[in-house]
Amino acid sequence: MQKQKLKYVSYAIVCEEVPDEISLAINISGCPYKCKGCHSKYLWEYTGNYISDDLDKLIDKYNSLITCVCFMGGDQNLNELLNLCKIVKKRGYKVCIYSGSCNISKFSIFYDNVCIDYIKIGSYIESRGGLNNKNTNQKMYKVIYGDTLKQLENITYRFLKHDYNTDRIVEEMSCLPLKSIETVKKELLNE
Ligand code: SF4
Repeated sequence: MQKQKLKYVSYAIVCEEVPDEISLAINISGCPYKCKGCHSKYLWEYTGNYISDDLDKLIDKYNSLITCVCFMGGDQNLNELLNLCKIVKKRGYKVCIYSGSCNISKFSIFYDNVCIDYIKIGSYIESRGGLNNKNTNQKMYKVIYGDTLKQLENITYRFLKHDYNTDRIVEEMSCLPLKSIETVKKELLNE
């Protein structure tokens, strides 16, 4: 079945969604996940403009300001999302995807094409909160590309504020080795 072309309803320049990057965040509509307690219900309806029509124009508008383009959703049409990521990478920017999926395997094709730098995965669970909650189920990874090996660095701790014992958590997590994508897949399946 033909997937619906991706549409977006809004965009913003943001500094907190992707650590160390100034991102053009594009809010993609038609979210298929429908998490209970969703903080962005306006993204459930399939509405707005086609991203493929506007992506270059949006990047042109902010080209000297941004370092990254962050797609908020879009994995309901992986082929199109992949093509959009390729466009962004060709233009010299980093790429981040925020997904409500817990299945990191579905993004393998993005690593294989070297067109993703950050990936946030995990549905929103009210009782566990978002990335800035120490109990969250969600995870943010940075993709590290070696000559042949692609690895993921868990950078979720970067979202914690100082209300928790963050210094200790940061110190502990900084010592963790990078993990192969296969290892991360297994860990997520066992969660
Ligand atoms: S993935 Fe995000 S936008 Fe979609 S339902 Fe869950 S919280 Fe809402």
